[in-house]
Amino acid sequence: MTRPADAAINELKELLGPKGFSMARDVLDLHNHEARGKFDGKADLVLFPATTDEVAKAVAICAAHTIAIVPQGGNTGRCGGAVADQGQVLLNLKRMNKMIELDTRDFTATVEAGAILKTLQDAAAAYDLLFPLSLGAEGSCQIGGNLATNAGGLNVIRYGNTRDLVLGLEVVLPDGSIWNGLSKLRKDNSGYDLRHLFIGAEGTLGIITKASLKLFPQPKHVASAWVAVPSPEAALDLLALARRNSGDAIAAFELMSRFAHDTSVTHLANITRPLVSETDWHVLIELTSSRPHDDLNSVLVDLLSDAVDAGFASDATVAQSDAQRKNLWALREGIPEAQGFEGASIKHDVSVPVSKVPDLLARGITAAMDLIPGIRPCPFGHVGDGNIHFNFSQPVDMDKADYLARWEDLNRAIHDIVADLGGSISAEHGIGRLKRDELVHYASAEKMKLLRSIKGAIDPDNRLNPGKVV
Ligand code: FAD
Repeated sequence: MTRPADAAINELKELLGPKGFSMARDVLDLHNHEARGKFDGKADLVLFPATTDEVAKAVAICAAHTIAIVPQGGNTGRCGGAVADQGQVLLNLKRMNKMIELDTRDFTATVEAGAILKTLQDAAAAYDLLFPLSLGAEGSCQIGGNLATNAGGLNVIRYGNTRDLVLGLEVVLPDGSIWNGLSKLRKDNSGYDLRHLFIGAEGTLGIITKASLKLFPQPKHVASAWVAVPSPEAALDLLALARRNSGDAIAAFELMSRFAHDTSVTHLANITRPLVSETDWHVLIELTSSRPHDDLNSVLVDLLSDAVDAGFASDATVAQSDAQRKNLWALREGIPEAQGFEGASIKHDVSVPVSKVPDLLARGITAAMDLIPGIRPCPFGHVGDGNIHFNFSQPVDMDKADYLARWEDLNRAIHDIVADLGGSISAEHGIGRLKRDELVHYASAEKMKLLRSIKGAIDPDNRLNPGKVV
């Protein structure tokens, strides 16, 4: 495919002006970049519209010239969803970043889709409210990207995925028309719930331009602990105990293997080992409450003491200061970066029913070791949601390229186990381009037929993010 026709380029330039349009090499390089290095972005132009109307008109121009559009947010996605082929146009929402309204009676925020997640969190906090979506990329990912990928993150156990936080959307459709579904209603059973078609669609059905989102009371108390647990089974027992004994105040419950823990402690600067005890599994547990007089530290200490008595934990430390709490989170969130110091990594973002996590870990580790002797499993993740980032570092003495050549074999072995346990091959990062063939392999014929029917009904000419998801 060659670059878009000059006539189309001129119309887009005229519509969007110098701030809304770029063909400069340095700008293209930035937006064509794909962090995992698995795909080559090849767009020849990138658009930066400033309003919904501009998005709609740009989409209509592209439709008239049969040009495909790839929506792009903060470009932090992990599945190649925001990568354009040659001849396609990138449409980045970063200039549409306004906080339109924060309503302290409705407990809602209405925002433009290009708003950075952290900006929304801070805007809500200024009103003593919480937007609970929280993930490692929150300083750069955009709300539109979060919605398009139905992002998960650290607080799903308490507040749900992005999908659970959405009341309404405004979306530009593939023909350039605008669906205004920017409702703040908490109850609306008037027909199919259209917003859910666009959430998690990874930009294949429409370009999300605005959203109205749920807010919650800002927590007044936070208590966090690092816990040594003897096994993943024990971690689940601890989770159940903690849910019951804390009045379900759990906001995060993260499991890490010893390798994941040691990698982070060894390679990252300024991280202190929270516990001296040697154990194969670690848990980071966090309770929050917005009730002014709660004493969550005592609740946590009591429940951890019960857990030790019951054999669900062998040791634990409760953070006594904000600095200590930040250290626990830096250790946990630094694992992907630290793992880079251990050579190549083959990754799986998978989920199973919470009760099946121990089976997944045991069977997955055995299968990987049989397939690639010396492989170093590095599982960690949001175990309270049944979501494990099942990463594997290369054997110490193996060539990096030889190891990465086994990517698909290992994926198949792990995904087969996930499927057998009733799980999903994409828990939170989506399908994008990376897992498109895996989706076809594991989804039922009926599911694929429905997915393709929906795509065909809304985007019959395959103009929005072609080649992604379906
Ligand atoms: P992009 O990467 O730009 O795009 C992602 C997809 O959404 C693409 O298919 C794109 O076409 C589409 N898209 C973007 N904007 C729009 C729009 N306005 N309308 C329609 N389609 C659009 N993800 C999690 O779920 N949980 C995590 O815990 C998590 N942690 C992460 C930690 C780090 C350090 C990093 C780098 C990433 C992490 N991610 C996580 C992945 C990523 O941050 C999320 O998928 C995020 O939601 C993507 O947002 P983005 O704005 O960067 O979107």
